[in-house]
Amino acid sequence: MSDQTEKQARNQLAEAYRRVVDLGLTELSSGNLSVRFGNGMLISPAGADGDNICEESIVYVNASGDWDKSLNPSSEWQLHAGIYRNDVNTTAIVHTHSDNCVAVSCHCHSLPPFHYLVGLFGGDDVPCVPYSTFGSETLAQDVSHALIDRYACLMANHGMTARGPSMPIAMMFAHRLEILCRQYLLAQQLGEPNHLSAEDMDAFREKISKISYGR
Ligand SMILES: [Zn+2]
Repeated sequence: MSDQTEKQARNQLAEAYRRVVDLGLTELSSGNLSVRFGNGMLISPAGADGDNICEESIVYVNASGDWDKSLNPSSEWQLHAGIYRNDVNTTAIVHTHSDNCVAVSCHCHSLPPFHYLVGLFGGDDVPCVPYSTFGSETLAQDVSHALIDRYACLMANHGMTARGPSMPIAMMFAHRLEILCRQYLLAQQLGEPNHLSAEDMDAFREKISKISYGR
């Protein structure tokens, strides 16, 4: 890959980070984003926020998990690496502590099919992986395993992670999940909402397979 290509990828990642901040999905330094690059990935650095993220601060982590020690990658770099290892079609990952995802994740249960758009994520629910310490190998394994057959998952008492075949799609999934969690919390004010049937969700997924809904 040429230097110019890496420069462009770094700039695009910094721009995406700022966009996620603008969408209100991350505040202070609680989110991290990455893109697959070469045999490894480019990832936002530890301590990144919407004000300090820039092309030069992005860290390249190679396939062996090594990086130039002048700057450290996000503490969740193992989580990102595990997702890329499990799915060759994933090229971008967004991890956030967005408000409504955190609120649902603190109940440690999956987001049920209360709305047909839950089916966008690849199944009848959006799973919630058990709590473990941030940056741990256990958390990385649980999230990367949950994302084998889903585009996003909740992380108990922590937040969410989304993946996609491009950064705009990974960001769309992160944004969509935040909206759905907000709507689920609203619906719950009248008690647990109606859940759609497996047949309803199958019919939705069959329909979107023909029209690329929302992507
Ligand atoms: Zn986090």
